[in-house]
Amino acid sequence: MANTPYPQSYYAASANPVPPRPALQGEVETDVCIIGAGYTGLSSALFLLENGFKVSIVEAAKVGFGASGRNGGQIVNSYSRDIDVIERTVGPKQAQLLGQMAFEGGRIIRERVAKYNIQCDLKDGGVFAALTSKQMGHLESQKRLWERFGHNQLELMDQKRIREVVACDSYVGGMLDMSGGHIHPLNLALGEAAAVESLGGIIYEQSPAVRIERGANPVVHTPQGKVRAKFIIVAGNAYLGNLVPELAAKSMPCGTQVITTEPLGDELARTLLPQDYCVEDCNYLLDYYRLTGDKRLIFGGGVVYGARDPANIEAIIRPKMLKAFPQLKNVKIDYAWTGNFLLTLSRLPQVGRIGDNIYYSQGCSGHGVTYTHLAGKVLAEALRGQAERFDAFAGLPHYPFPGGQMLRVPFSAIGAWYYSLRDRLGF
Ligand SMILES: Cc1cc2nc3c(=O)[nH]c(=O)nc-3n(C[C@H](O)[C@H](O)[C@H](O)COP(=O)(O)OP(=O)(O)OC[C@H]3O[C@@H](n4cnc5c(N)ncnc54)[C@H](O)[C@@H]3O)c2cc1C
Repeated sequence: MANTPYPQSYYAASANPVPPRPALQGEVETDVCIIGAGYTGLSSALFLLENGFKVSIVEAAKVGFGASGRNGGQIVNSYSRDIDVIERTVGPKQAQLLGQMAFEGGRIIRERVAKYNIQCDLKDGGVFAALTSKQMGHLESQKRLWERFGHNQLELMDQKRIREVVACDSYVGGMLDMSGGHIHPLNLALGEAAAVESLGGIIYEQSPAVRIERGANPVVHTPQGKVRAKFIIVAGNAYLGNLVPELAAKSMPCGTQVITTEPLGDELARTLLPQDYCVEDCNYLLDYYRLTGDKRLIFGGGVVYGARDPANIEAIIRPKMLKAFPQLKNVKIDYAWTGNFLLTLSRLPQVGRIGDNIYYSQGCSGHGVTYTHLAGKVLAEALRGQAERFDAFAGLPHYPFPGGQMLRVPFSAIGAWYYSLRDRLGF
């Protein structure tokens, strides 16, 4: 059977040691079978186990193989579209509930790290950097909006102040969110997986779900085994393929690329990001970066619609890094990799239930580190019969991509080109 390894990322090279996990052989029975061991699956598993459910996870490759083990590591609050958009889409009552939840994911991560003693280089502080006065105006409204929902750890920064936290001359200002921050994403996933196992959950690696037998007692089939369960949670996100055709039809996997420099040394690292905050800019196709625990710069950006792997990632991302930090022109790139996130047309997550017992959450569209942790809690609540928060998410509209699976890639690329042109022209 195929043994799928991690991509050659900085994260895989600096992962905490983990025990080998077996593939599923034969038949097992459980309360909940979760498909996918990324943050959505692991967070669901932890909340369910903490509430007395029996849980088995089937993972096609390895824990954190997908976006959860490859991402920029930025703990970014809220969803990929903000609460005002939700308010306009579904009205004030549902928006109120979703707005109250928008800052919970970061708290869940910090609770998990503390409770299960997860070693993942957690640091506090995230910066949204504005490249134009229009983006700065947007940050000002965002601060007012988030404060309306109880977030009070935000500071607007003018040009002089942002230069004190990021050694980049491109920004006109920004906003610091002290409840944002950053982590080693794969080590967070691996720590959560160990926590799952410490509570009696079972994780089968190299065990792709190849078929779901639907019905009153659903069964998840893998190449060499099957799991009978009362409930299934589908948490395969951008790596799910066509296992659940209803979900594939209304979402699109997209690639985004990340590079990691050689270690910069304490002094150079401190000149770039003196307080060790992470940064993302406010463009539609945004750049994001931060320092690692061993003082490398991790820099990500770019989107490949349809998730084809670009041939030379360094050639795409290094110029973006040098535009932000020309002082790094002689620094070597040690790692470059790509990972897939799942885009939805509204850029809001898709949460729901198929039949009576198959639950799903997917499509956080680029910002998912906090949302997926919240999603796990909300899905677990629904399985326990408390569906108010699940229903608030499930009520967000799901749209199919125009052009279907054939044309969604070119249509979305044209849309993104339009928005990035607006960013470049400062509209
Ligand atoms: C390069 C990159 C950078 C990013 N940076 C950030 C960031 O800095 N901040 C932020 O908030 N968000 C970021 N994101 C988004 C964020 O990482 C994701 O939203 C989040 O990790 C999604 O978690 P998930 O568990 O839903 O999916 P994934 O982590 O992708 O996990 C899905 C898992 O399901 C498994 N799977 C799929 N199909 C099957 C099957 N049939 N059977 C069994 N297993 C299956 C996969 O192997 C995979 O392990 C980034 C994403 C990428 C790709």
